[in-house]
Parts: sequence; C-alpha cells; structure tokens
Amino acid sequence: MVISQLRNCVFKFKHIQLYRRCIGTVVSDSNYEKFDVIVVGGGHAGTEACAAAARMGAKTLLVTHKKSTVGEMSCNPSFGGIGKGHLMREVDALDGVCCRICDKSGIHYKILNRRKGPAVWGLRAQIDRVLYKKHLQAELFSAKNLHISESPVEDLILQGDSPKCCGVILKDGTKVFGKSVVITTGTFLKGQINIGLEKRPAGRLDDEPSIGLANTLEDLGFRMGRLKTGTPPRIVKSTIDFTQCQYHPPDNRPEPFSFMNETVWIKPEDQLPCYLTFTGEAVAKIVRDNLHCNRHVTEEVTGPRYCPSIESKILKFASMKHQIWLEPEGLDSPLMYPSGLSCTLPADKQVDLVRCMIGLENAEVAQPGYGVEYDYIDPRELTYKLETKRVEGLYLAGQINGTTGYEEAAAQGIVAGVNAAAKVLNKPPLIISRTEGYIGVLIDDLTTQGTSEPYRMFTSRAEFRLSLRPDNADQRLTEKGYISGCVSRERLTRMQNIRRKLREAEDLLKSVQLSIEQWQKKLGIEMSKTFSCRTAFNMLSITNYGLTLDDLRKCLPDQLAGLDNDPILHNRLKIQAIYAMAVEDQMRDVNEVRKHEEMLIPPAIDYSVSALSFSYEEREKLMIAQPQTIAAASRIPGVTPSAILRLLHYVKQKPDIGSMQSAAAL
Ligand code: FAD
Repeated sequence: MVISQLRNCVFKFKHIQLYRRCIGTVVSDSNYEKFDVIVVGGGHAGTEACAAAARMGAKTLLVTHKKSTVGEMSCNPSFGGIGKGHLMREVDALDGVCCRICDKSGIHYKILNRRKGPAVWGLRAQIDRVLYKKHLQAELFSAKNLHISESPVEDLILQGDSPKCCGVILKDGTKVFGKSVVITTGTFLKGQINIGLEKRPAGRLDDEPSIGLANTLEDLGFRMGRLKTGTPPRIVKSTIDFTQCQYHPPDNRPEPFSFMNETVWIKPEDQLPCYLTFTGEAVAKIVRDNLHCNRHVTEEVTGPRYCPSIESKILKFASMKHQIWLEPEGLDSPLMYPSGLSCTLPADKQVDLVRCMIGLENAEVAQPGYGVEYDYIDPRELTYKLETKRVEGLYLAGQINGTTGYEEAAAQGIVAGVNAAAKVLNKPPLIISRTEGYIGVLIDDLTTQGTSEPYRMFTSRAEFRLSLRPDNADQRLTEKGYISGCVSRERLTRMQNIRRKLREAEDLLKSVQLSIEQWQKKLGIEMSKTFSCRTAFNMLSITNYGLTLDDLRKCLPDQLAGLDNDPILHNRLKIQAIYAMAVEDQMRDVNEVRKHEEMLIPPAIDYSVSALSFSYEEREKLMIAQPQTIAAASRIPGVTPSAILRLLHYVKQKPDIGSMQSAAAL
C-alpha cells in the first residue's frame, strides 16, 4: 500500500516536471516551424504513416535517426506470406506504398498455400533489400507535403492537464511543433542487443536505442512491457554447396502485390531460387551445450511464437529436424539469409552451428545473428484510430504496439497516419472493422485484447476470412480510403471500373441458366444431380473440374459474347464464384457463435483431444485460462474464431453435458 502510494507520488512528480518543461516552451516558441503531422521513425509503420498523411494534404514531417535507413528491412528480406499478404493488399487498397515498391524490387515471387482456396493464399516475395530502400526513399524524398529530417527524438511537447501532444523535442534540444504526432519507433525503445553473453544498448545492429522517448512514455503512465526478437547470421553465398540443398523455384507467372500493377519489374526467368536445408542432432547439441553463454535465450522475456529462434525450437521440440530456408538477400547480393536460424549464441559458436548443416559445411558467416529486447506499449492504451487514450493527438503504430513483422507495421502505420492527418484536416477518421479487413482484425485484437507476445497476423484470426480475400481488398477498402482522403481519384476510378465490370459479368453469368443434363452435354463432364439446374456463375464455382470462363464461353459463345477478355477480371470472377456460397455459410457460423456466447464449457474438458484439432498455442492458452463460457474463450488472445466454432460444436455434441445451460440463466 505504502509502496504503491510512493510510486504514485513519484509518477505525479515526474508528470508535473514534464508538463512544466513542455508547456512553457509551447507558449513562447511561436517562431518555430509548425507541422500538421510529425511521424517519428522511418521503418515500415513510419513510412506508410508519413506517406498517407502527406497524400491527404497534411504538412508532414518524418523525423528518423538516419535518412539512409528509411525503409530498412531489419530482418528477413521478404514481404508477405499467409495473412501478411492480405494485410499488404489492404494497405495497397488504401494507396499505401509497400506493395508498389515490392513490385519494383522482388526477386522471387511465390504464392503460398496454393493447395488451399484463394481466400487464404499468401502473396509473398523475396525482396532485394537495397532496391526496396532505394525505390521507397526515391518516392518519399520527392513526395509533396513531406519533409524528412534526421535526428533522434528525445521527448514530446505536451500541453494541458489532460495532456495534448503538440510536438517533439530532438536530441539537440530543438523543438518541432506538430498538431498530431505518430510514434513508430519499432524495437528501439530501450533496445538492447544480445550476442552470447555480450549485451549493448541498440535498437538494431549499428543503431542507437531510444531511451529518452521511452522514459517520456513511461512517465506519462503508459502501461509498458518488454519483448524480444532475433535475426539469423548472414552467410556468404559463394561458400554454400547448393547441390546438397533442396531447390525451390519461384512462380513462373509472378503475381503483382499492387492493384495498380499488372506485372512486376523482373522477367520471370530472371528471378532467383531459394533452397532448403535442415538442422540435425549436431546443431541441437551445440545449442544445448552453450546455453550457459546465451543470455538472450535464458532471459525471461517473451519472444515471437511464430518466428522463434533456433534455440527455442530445439529446446521445445528436441527431436525434430528443423527447416532452414536459404533465401537470397538481393539480385547481386553476395549474402544468403538462412530463414529459421535466428540465433544469439556467441559469434564463434554460430559459425560451428552453421557448418553442421548439409550444404553449409564450408560456409562463411559474414555477420552473426543477434537478439534484441525492447519496450512496447500495451496496445489497449489505444483507440481504433490508434490514438492514445492518455494523450490526445499522440498516435502509435508498428512494433511499438507489440506486433512483429513489416506488414503488421505497415498496416498500423497507414491507419495512424490517416487518422493523425484527418484530425488536423477535419476529415472523417479511418476506422476499419473486423468485417471489412484484416487491418480491422489486427487493430481490434490489439486494442481490445492487448498482447503478451509479439503479435503476427494469420488468416485464422479472422472470422470473416472467406470474404476478406486478397483479391477483393480494393472492393472493400478503396472507397473508404477515398472518403478519408488517403486514396487518389485515379485509384478510385480504377477500382470503380473493375467493380462495374465484375458486376456486369456476374449478372451476365447469372442470367444464363441450364439444366444439369444440358451442362453435362455441353461440357462433356459428369456432374452431381444435387441441383436440377445451374447458372453459368454457379458452374464457375465448381473447382474440381477446373472450369474457367473460357471453357464456359466456348460452349456458350452467343450467350456469353459480351464478356470482357481481361484475364485478371476472369480470375477475380472465378474466385468470387467459388466463395459466393461459402460466404453465406461463414455468416451462419459467425451468427451461431454469437448466439451461443453464454454457453458453459465443462470444467474437465480436454483441450488436447484430436476432435478439437487445436494448435499448440490454442491448447496452451485455453488450458491456462480455463474459460467458463464460449464468450470468455473467444476473448483469449491467440484463440482463433475457427477454434471457437470447433469448441462450440464439441461442447454441444458432448453427451455428458446433457442439456445446455446458459451462464446467464445461473
Ligand atoms: P522499425 O522498422 O524498427 O523502424 C523503426 C524506425 O524508427 C527506425 O527507422 C529507427 O531509426 C526509428 N527510430 C527509433 N527511435 C527513434 C527516435 N527516438 N527518433 C527518431 N527515430 C527513431 N519481424 C518478423 O516478422 N520476423 C522476424 O523474424 C523479425 N526479426 C527481427 C529481428 C530483429 C533484430 C529486428 C530488429 C526486427 C525483427 N523483426 C522481425 C521485426 C520487423 O523488423 C519489425 O516488425 C518491423 O520492422 C517493425 O516496423 P516498425 O516500423 O514498427 O519499426
């Protein structure tokens, strides 16, 4: 009791000091240049935030440590993936920059998860990290309304009792005034790098940490926590024996990330391959024998569950061989990135570890892997606009909010940038719901549930994933972005043209209806007789015959003569047809969960039974939380909506539960 009172006193004292320091300067510094929006940090959240604010017409300043690291890919040289590719398409639908830049800098484009339906395909590309930065910087450095300045930000300028943020204080004491401030400092808040037993303050290798700003946020009373992540050693390409590794080619028809592009910059045949190798017992032994000199692993800070270090994987799954992907760092780069081999052993032990793997026996390590620990802010401190509840006009986006990944950062960056500008320009805010986009899922999860480990996006986190597809992100979000002011008229017109063509084509396909017998005869296929007749649109949804629009057009040349020839449109129509019925089923599932939210879960339930097919994370979290109702289970971070549906069906079917009781009725 006494201690907590004392802490409160110290907090209030620090607070008063801070306000005194800042309020005085605001009043007297009328000669300083003023901005509408100031963005702190030029990573993936910051670049989207400042580009969005500037596009909206706000006079914007990006302040970052070094101009040369604007757009730096701190870790893996790749963008996209399952769930992440969805976020990128949504960022693009809002006129964001990352997709267009990936279309100019990818060196190996591949759609992941192709065996499943297109709703969960993951657009992904290996990116040339030098080219990415070059193109991004070229775009930002010449953007209208955007000013870029190099300096660490040490403090905030605050005004009023319920404070309002009105600028930042740079390391040399310069005050810069802005009506809204967006902080996107990634892993830099009190960042500390670990290699072996060595530790040093740094936000990233060769980059200073952000201490002053971390102290300011702490003094303001923000709930904060500590997380960690890591990166693998980089290997000299010419020292790898690729003949011993599995060869993985890219797609031969690269799919562009951006809705504005029909092709990517590189010729399909010029793309580079990736390779796969595996860890074995020798790697596991090096990890186990050297735990005493690996402080990052032994420290009690939570790391990313889905991008764990090789040490964590070996300690958790001792007997497994782990996949290591060898990915090119760039078109002309002499380095390869061993994805899956993030480690923090002492540098000499990392060399031993690398050389234990097939194909890497003579490999040279150009740069050791390292870990980084950093402060993050509990994202429940934020509203849906990503504005802090504690300080008006202050927005946070990216890894500072407990997420991991470039795409999660970019998605938050664009929302924070738009809203920071919208506030100043008196435009409507950009709020995306869970039904409208993965960005909505991300922000809703973060702001309502918080996170205790680095949060990354998966398609399973979205209950509406059949309608939130990468192919239709423009149809879902571009108009909304235009209303908020972050989308150009050119993009809006393009989206509207596509929408019109899709509607016309869908109407035409729906107007052609034949009996099953007629379809069988025309197409020469055997079909189930579940339905007596089907429209051409229905026929397009039958995936097991691989029917295309061209097949339908060939057998109905007169009726479908009016169809547009655009292959991109055909592809989108096919996906739309495939999901038309499934989307209705999905809505039924969502409503079913809503209806049974109060249903009791029996206390003795075994979450590991195969009928539930829960992931390790879901099992672990449910076992710890022991939720009493379906509603309580659905609020546990990391337990996906599809897992909740399976749980509901399981609880309903269990005979020993007898008649279902509602918690509300007790
Ligand atoms: P960042 O990209 O980190 O950018 C922060 C920017 O803010 C930098 O430009 C920095 O210079 C600037 N800055 C910081 N403080 C200040 C200040 N006070 N004043 C001015 N400028 C400031 N993600 C994965 O998905 N998988 C991984 O395996 C993975 N491993 C990682 C390993 C390491 C070592 C690191 C550092 C990151 C890793 N990440 C990984 C995370 C990924 O890099 C981030 O999620 C992503 O870059 C976050 O983007 P951001 O914009 O929030 O921050």
